[in-house]
Amino acid sequence: MTTQKKPRLLITNILVFVVTGLISLVFVPLEVFYRGLDWVEVITCISLIWATGMSITAGYHRLWAHKSYQANPVVRVILAVAGAMALQNSILHWASDHRIHHRHVDDNDRDPYSAKKGFWYSHIGWMLREYQAHRYSDYSNCKDLQKDKVVMWQHNHYLPIMLIANFSIPMFIGWLNGDIWGMLVVAGVFRLVIVHHVTFFINSLAHIWGKQPYTDTNTARDNGILAFFTFGEGYHNYHHIFEYDYRNGIKWWQFDPTKWLISGLSFIGLTSNLRRCPEQRIEQAKAAMQLKRTKAKLELMPNGQELLTKLHAEYDLLVSKMTEFYSAQKSLMDAKKANLLRSYEALELDFKYKEIKSALSLQKQKWSMLNQMYMQPA
Ligand SMILES: [Zn+2]
Ligand SMILES: [Zn+2]
Repeated sequence: MTTQKKPRLLITNILVFVVTGLISLVFVPLEVFYRGLDWVEVITCISLIWATGMSITAGYHRLWAHKSYQANPVVRVILAVAGAMALQNSILHWASDHRIHHRHVDDNDRDPYSAKKGFWYSHIGWMLREYQAHRYSDYSNCKDLQKDKVVMWQHNHYLPIMLIANFSIPMFIGWLNGDIWGMLVVAGVFRLVIVHHVTFFINSLAHIWGKQPYTDTNTARDNGILAFFTFGEGYHNYHHIFEYDYRNGIKWWQFDPTKWLISGLSFIGLTSNLRRCPEQRIEQAKAAMQLKRTKAKLELMPNGQELLTKLHAEYDLLVSKMTEFYSAQKSLMDAKKANLLRSYEALELDFKYKEIKSALSLQKQKWSMLNQMYMQPA
């Protein structure tokens, strides 16, 4: 192996992480100990954590990097300014890196924050040196974003927008509250460090810790605990396979406030064209992953062949029932939309749909029990 010269250190990035990290670790505890915190400081800090963190997840990530929905210009300006306040570079640069991450996930030479290079590298190490120097000027994978005036305005004036937002907002609220310095330390610096690291966890921990229900072709994981700290982005296994879906947690009970914000804004017309992956594809991916896992285990067992035949038969049955169900669902929806059916025809279609639905649900139960049984330790 040849020893390669390490890429040059990115001094500005290092200084930002070290200085803000030290202030949070040293000044914030001192401030709390000697002067105490008042509720205005606490509320401002928490509100800014949510506002700037969600501007990264709903704005930088789901709106711009993945185009999973469209947003009104006013929403875009707010997301661009609050996103700049999170100090993670411009939308254009961030989205470009992120599109490379999805395209070449886990490829140590191309993925900007490849999890295969370990926790430290994927969390923060990748920003400390100029790895893959071309990434800092080549935005050819974001030609669509270069047509977005808000994106280019933020990119061209990133430094003043970032500095003004980061200093003026906490200082102004601090001035109103009678303690500029305290607010700047807590709602300015401490808030920045928290949002940095929780969003960095999506590149590090969400590729290390959790389950892989949809695919194991990359390192991304689903993790409900992580979702709780990352504004819903912990469902990262789902996200890597269906990246254009505006949701990361697809079940109603999964904690995904970014999804709730996007869909909430759509009710008042501020966001539109919310993209969802068809349920059939999601269900099929999940079943295929279960098949793959159970199959790998059965192949190692002495009497595995017989069980494998049974497993395959049940899988084929499941897939055919799914196809039948989703096509019945579609015919029913089309008929309802067109409103052309006479009542008895509608009733018949609805009856058939319900019948297929319960057959599918039975087959799903059978399939999941079979997998559980085979996956149990011998
Ligand atoms: Zn990822
Ligand atoms: Zn993504």
